[in-house]
Amino acid sequence: MADGWIEVGDRCWVRRFAHVDVSAGVIAGEAGLLVLDTRASLRQGEELAAHVRALSGLPVLAVLNSHEHFDHTWGNGAFPGLPIVAHESVPAAMRAGRARIERLYAEDPTVPFGPEVVASPLVVPTQTFRDSWSLDLGGRAVTARFLGRGHTAGDVVLHVPDAEVLYAGDLIEESAPPSFGDDCYPLEWAPTLERVAGLLGERTVVVPGHGAPVGTAYLRAQRDDIATVAAEIRRLRGTAREEPPPVAEALRRGRWPWKAERLGDAVARGFAQLADG
Ligand SMILES: [Zn+2]
Repeated sequence: MADGWIEVGDRCWVRRFAHVDVSAGVIAGEAGLLVLDTRASLRQGEELAAHVRALSGLPVLAVLNSHEHFDHTWGNGAFPGLPIVAHESVPAAMRAGRARIERLYAEDPTVPFGPEVVASPLVVPTQTFRDSWSLDLGGRAVTARFLGRGHTAGDVVLHVPDAEVLYAGDLIEESAPPSFGDDCYPLEWAPTLERVAGLLGERTVVVPGHGAPVGTAYLRAQRDDIATVAAEIRRLRGTAREEPPPVAEALRRGRWPWKAERLGDAVARGFAQLADG
C-alpha cells in the first residue's frame, strides 16, 4: 500500500522524488491527513496527490509549505479548496521569486521539467502564521513552528511529538550540503537550528527537505558546520572600520566546511547583513 512511501514514525511518511531530490511528507490522524510540501510543478503536485490517495483513504485536511521555494510549493495548485498554510513571509516571497525561477528554467531548454515548471500556476498560501500553527488530525495534534530565519526568511518545521518525528524542510539537507541562496540568512541559521534542536528527543527522526531521514546527531553536526560558515564570514569581514574584502577573495581565504563555490551568496549576504548592523 505504501509503495514508495517510507513510514519514519507512527503514521508519518516521507517520499523522495527524482527531480531535485525533493521530499514530500504525509502525517495521518484518525480524521485526515496533512500534506507537507507539493513539489515543483502542477503536474508533480497532481502525481503527489495520487500517491497520497493510494497511501490512505482519509481526506487531506490541509497542506503545509515548509518554505517558499518553488520545488516545495509550485504543486500547490493540485490541492484546490484546501487550506494551504505557511509562514507569513511566504506569499510575498513566492510572488517576488517567481520571475527568477521562470528565467532560470526558460534560459536553458535542456533543464529537466522546464516547461511543466514554468506552466504551473502560482498558488500562494491561503492561511499564514507568524510563530506557530497547530492542526488536530483526529486524536493527534501536529504543530508547525517558525523558529527563526536561515535557509530563507520563512522556514518552518513540523513537529509530530507523539511519533518523535520532525520535518525540517530545507533547514537541514542530507543529499547535498545545505543550500545558501541569495535569500538566505547565514548568520541566523545556526541559532535557528539550536532552537529546533530544543524540540528533539534523542530518538527523534529528522526529515530533511532533500535526502534521507537523519537523527539528532546529524542535525547538530550540520548546525555546527553552518555556525562555522557564520564565524568565517564574521572573521573575514573584519571590523566595521575596514572595507570588506571582495567575495571571491573571502571565499579563497576562508576555511569552509563545504566547497567555497557553493558559499558565494552566503558570504555576500553575511557581509551585507553585518553592514546593516
Ligand atoms: Zn529551499
